[in-house]
Amino acid sequence: KEFRNSIKPNWCPGCGDFSVQAAIQRAAANVGLEPDNLAVVSGIGCSGRISGYIKSYGFHGIHGRSLPIAQGVKMANRDLTVIASGGDGDGFAIGMGHTVHAIRRNIDITYIVMDNQIYGLTKGQTSPRSDVGFKTKSTPEGSVESAIGVMELALTAGATFVAQSFSTDLKELTSIIEAGINHKGFSLINVFSPCVTYNKVNTYDWFKEHLVSLSTIENYDSSNRMMAMQTLMENKGLVKGIIYQDKVKPSYQDLAHGYSKEALSKVDLNLSEEKFNQLMTEFM
Ligand code: SF4
Repeated sequence: KEFRNSIKPNWCPGCGDFSVQAAIQRAAANVGLEPDNLAVVSGIGCSGRISGYIKSYGFHGIHGRSLPIAQGVKMANRDLTVIASGGDGDGFAIGMGHTVHAIRRNIDITYIVMDNQIYGLTKGQTSPRSDVGFKTKSTPEGSVESAIGVMELALTAGATFVAQSFSTDLKELTSIIEAGINHKGFSLINVFSPCVTYNKVNTYDWFKEHLVSLSTIENYDSSNRMMAMQTLMENKGLVKGIIYQDKVKPSYQDLAHGYSKEALSKVDLNLSEEKFNQLMTEFM
């Protein structure tokens, strides 16, 4: 409850992003955070609005750049829990370079992608996660490009925490976000979050029919990278749960020389207007 603010989301009724917002708020409360321990950074897209809907520090950045900003926040204040967020277009098209390097850097932040396999904010174009044959305004004859297998790509880039979930599974999604926050290193959580307005193929029913829960696979071992890759390939990436976690590899924070042990800046969230204006003047 304490992570709610007074801003009403303007997502379309039924958009999967509502559940992601709720799951982040619940997970933050469950791991014992207070709003001023949390920073939520987002990129551009419908999902990018999420940083304004959670009571915390927030930064609504530019397209594809939530990760550089989030990493900067974490470097400036190691005490903050930092969540980067955005859509599949934001993170896996223009932002893909940042995604791969943040993964291999293993910096201690949680990246939550709301994957609806389409560009929603710009009214429905094919995204890097759209399947072959997907028809949109930008591909009226059907897309001829293969969708990026982001979970597989994360594994090969050296990821230490790779998970996938579905926005209707609020309980599972909340617990995965908690695990991602508690993970010491970079956690990538891809959430299938349907766009009910523009994606009429990858609907809630479609995901219910196609997603395989890792909890139903006998002897699945999330510490086994080879098993994780094989399971993803066998199921065309359509699995949900914690796919892979390496609890041993040190994070960037553990290894970086000269990383400040103290926060470089601390500001009370309940700023007076006068103090806010003063801060803005200092930054200008
Ligand atoms: Fe959600 Fe799609 Fe509406 Fe955007 S256009 S708010 S992604 S349902």
